[in-house]
Amino acid sequence: MRPVRAFAAALIVLASAAPAHAAPAPAAPAPAAGAFSQATLTRARAARDAGLRDDAGYDALRELCTQVGPRLAGSPGDARAVAWGLETMKRMGFSNVRAETVTVPRWERGECHVEITAPWPQPLVACALGGSVATPEEGVEAEVVAAGSIDELKALGEARVRGRIVFFRGHMERARTGMGYGAAVTVRGRGASEAAKLGAVGVLIRSIGTDSNRDPHTGAMRYDSTGTRIAALSLSAPDADLLDRQIASGKAVRLRMRNTSRSAGVAVSAKVIGEFPGRGAGAGIVVVGGHLDSWDLGQGAHDDGAGCVIMLAAAKHAAAAGPPRHTIRVVLFANEEFGLSGARGYATRHEAELARHVVAMESDLGAFDVWGLETGFGPGRETLVTPLMSVLAPVCTEYVGNGTRGGADTGPLTSRGVPALQLATDARPYFDLHHSANDTFDKVDVALLRENIAGYAALIVMAASGDVDFGRLPPAAATPVATPVATPAATPR
Ligand SMILES: [Zn+2]
Repeated sequence: MRPVRAFAAALIVLASAAPAHAAPAPAAPAPAAGAFSQATLTRARAARDAGLRDDAGYDALRELCTQVGPRLAGSPGDARAVAWGLETMKRMGFSNVRAETVTVPRWERGECHVEITAPWPQPLVACALGGSVATPEEGVEAEVVAAGSIDELKALGEARVRGRIVFFRGHMERARTGMGYGAAVTVRGRGASEAAKLGAVGVLIRSIGTDSNRDPHTGAMRYDSTGTRIAALSLSAPDADLLDRQIASGKAVRLRMRNTSRSAGVAVSAKVIGEFPGRGAGAGIVVVGGHLDSWDLGQGAHDDGAGCVIMLAAAKHAAAAGPPRHTIRVVLFANEEFGLSGARGYATRHEAELARHVVAMESDLGAFDVWGLETGFGPGRETLVTPLMSVLAPVCTEYVGNGTRGGADTGPLTSRGVPALQLATDARPYFDLHHSANDTFDKVDVALLRENIAGYAALIVMAASGDVDFGRLPPAAATPVATPVATPAATPR
C-alpha cells in the first residue's frame, strides 16, 4: 500500500492556492459520456448477485494462504505465487494466461533483537523495516532520543541526536478512509536517512498500524543515495508505549539493537496476466488487479491476496454474465511492496496500447466492508455516477467523489490518462493487520470478501460494456481534479 491518493489531495491544495481573481480557463466541451443500456444494467445486476454467492474467491485465497503463504518479491514464495496465479487463472477459465517477467530487488530479513538496557531493562518486540541494513555485528547500544515527526527531529538538532538512537513515537490515526496512513508513513520511508544526517546510530519507529497487538508492522523504507545508512526497525505498539513510559520518567533510557538484514542483489519475478477477450478489432481493455507479492511476516491474506482473488472472481462473474465488448484483463502485479516493479513494468511494456485502456481498477485495501464508490473520470462524466450507484446499491450507497487516481499499481496508468474506478472499503481493520504477522487467512470474512467481489463484478460489466466513455484524465500534476474529493485520503496499500 502506498500513499497515492496524497497526490490527488496535493492537486486540490494547488487548485485552492490559485489567486481568487484568476479567470477560469474556458472549458472545452466534453464529448458525450453515453448511457448504459438496459441489457448492460441487467447483466451488471446478475454479475453482482453471483458475486454475493461466490465461493471461488474464498477458496482461491485459502489455497494461496495455505500453499504459498508469505511471498516477498524475489523469494521462493514469490515464485510459487506466480505459479499459483497462472494455474488459478487457467482453472477459472481465463484466456491468454501468461507471466510477464520483471526484475525485482531482493532483501533478506535476518534476525532482529532490541532491548532496553537502562533504566529498567526489558526486551522489546521489533522487526526490521524492508530495505534496512544490518547493525554492526555486535549491535549498537546508545541513549534514545524521541521525536514525533521528521520536523521534530530536525528541531532537536545534531547536538541532541549525534551518537543516539532515534525513536519516532508518532501514532497513526485509525480512520475509515485510511487517511492516517499517509501522514504516519513518512517516518518509515525517510526517517533513517534524516536521522543519520544528524549523526544518529539507529532508528526505531512505532509501527505504522492501528492495533495494540505485540506484533510489529514492517514496510518499505529507503535510504538517500548518499549518506550513512543506519538500521531502521519497527516496534510493536505496546513496546512503543513501554518505551514512551520509560522516557517519560525523565531518566536517560538506553537501548541495545542488533539486526542482520541484508540486500541480496536482484531476482526475476513476474506479473501474472489473464483475460476474457472482448469483441472486434476496436475492443478496448478494462484492466483490473491487485498485487501478488506480500511482506514476509504474515500470509498476505488481506494485503493483497484478497485483492487478487477479488478481481479474479469478479472478472469471472462479469464474463459469465454475457460476452464483454471490451477485453477484461486481470493483472496480478509484482513487487508492489518493495519498489512497484510490476506497476512500472506494466505501464512501460503496454505503453502502445494504453490509449485502448478504457478504465483501471485496483483492490489493495483488504476484504473489508465496502462503503462507497470513488471515480476518477475525465471531465463531463457526472451522468455516469447515478447508474453505477444504482447497481451498487445492495453493496454500498456512498459516492465519495471523482478524486481517485487509482492505487499504487494503477497509478502509472492514471498518470498517463487512464480513468479509474475504485470501491472504498473500511480501512480500520485493515491497518490493524497490514504488514504484520497477523495478516492471516482466518482474518478474512467470506461475506465481506463476497461484497467486494460483487461490487467489482458489477463495475467490470458496466466498464466492459462499451456503452459509455469514461473520458481521459488530465496528465499528472497538470490540472486539478474536476470534482472535490469528499474524503481526502491517503491510499494505503
Ligand atoms: Zn498492498
